[in-house]
Parts: sequence; C-alpha cells; structure tokens
Amino acid sequence: MAERILIVEDESRIARFLELELKHEGYEVEIASDGRSGLERIKDGDFSLVILDLMLPMMSGIEVCRRVRKFSDIPIIMLTAKDDISDKVTGLDSGADDYVTKPFAIEELLARIRVALKRKAAKKENNEDTITCGKLVLSKMQHRVTYDGEEIPLSKKEYDLLLYFMENKGIVLDREKLIENVWGYDFIGDTNVTDVYVRYLRSKIDQKYGVSFIRTIRGVGYIFEHQE
Ligand code: CA
Repeated sequence: MAERILIVEDESRIARFLELELKHEGYEVEIASDGRSGLERIKDGDFSLVILDLMLPMMSGIEVCRRVRKFSDIPIIMLTAKDDISDKVTGLDSGADDYVTKPFAIEELLARIRVALKRKAAKKENNEDTITCGKLVLSKMQHRVTYDGEEIPLSKKEYDLLLYFMENKGIVLDREKLIENVWGYDFIGDTNVTDVYVRYLRSKIDQKYGVSFIRTIRGVGYIFEHQE
C-alpha cells in the first residue's frame, strides 16, 4: 500500500511541484493550502507523513505542528523559507521531526522523507505506544486517552477496559473474556460488571462526542469499532 503524504503549502507552484515529484516516487499525495485546512486534513486523513510549510495563511506551520502533537506523532517535515536558525529551532521545538530550507533540492527532501518513514516504522515495531482509532488516541506510556486532542479522564479500570477494547479492535469480545483480561482470572463477582464499565466508557466517549465505538452484540458481548 502506498504511503500517503499531505503537503500543507500555500504557494501552489511549490505544492504542485512537490505533488508531481512525490507521485513519481510512488506516494499518494494530497494538498492543503492553508494551516487550518491542513490541520483538519491531518485529523481526518490517514497520512503517513506531513510536509508542512512554516509560513501559511490562517494558521502558521508552527501552530499547526503544536496542535497536531496533541493527538498524533505523525512525522512532520517543516519547510522553512529562509535559512534562519531561529525558525529551525522553533520548528523542532513545536514537534517537527525534521526541516528543509527553501529553496531545497528535491533529492534532499525525498531522502528526509525516506528517513522519517523508516524511523516511524521502526518506532512502531519497537514500541506500539499509541493506539489510534479515528480521533480517539490512547498512549500506553502516558496512560492517557484523548479525543480530538481533548483529554478524557478515566479511572484505572475504565482505562484498562478501553485499552483491551482498542487492542482488539473489530473482534467480538464476550463478557468472560473481558473479565479474564481486564479484571483478572481471580475476579469473583458478577460478569455484569463489564456492562457497568462499558456504560461508563460510553458516557465519557461515545455520548460525549457523538460517536459510536462500542457496539453491543446481543447475547454475546461487545465489539469495538471505528464508526464516527
Ligand atoms: Ca508559505
């Protein structure tokens, strides 16, 4: 499957040039021409990498980068117009992975893209810290769950249950399985406790954000799916 790259660049000449070059390399490409729509595309789209111009209308590249980092660790390569060290520092501080100074040699940018994608693949293999389902993001390391960048406060059990659901996305889970894996084999009590906790999760996520992640399979249990 081709890697999808989003180009956020307001200069259409540069955006089109990049699009042609990247497509030629076998990437799928989309273009956003201002910061705000770029941010929206990153939230909705399933991209492997973002090329982000620093100077953008509506919202600067730095601001886009800061906001993206609240919900995603997608590789971001920043394009800086001038060879200005402070731009680079600010760009990297805001969470960009790399930067390329305009005017750039396309070969250099392509090489940076390959490196960033490789690093991303390695990171994913070594430590699958983040599980994403649409705008719902769970970070195991931080023990933190966000929806569209907004933190969802969860109790320990709610978190454990959600983690188990997200790790088993698309699989029907019966109550016994949930009890075994979330509450432990030695749990003594009613398996209806799972229903109670599913209700808690639904009120904090599904109902709050008007989405439907946890679906009841009558007489069996639950399935966690992405249905926004
Ligand atoms: Ca620009």
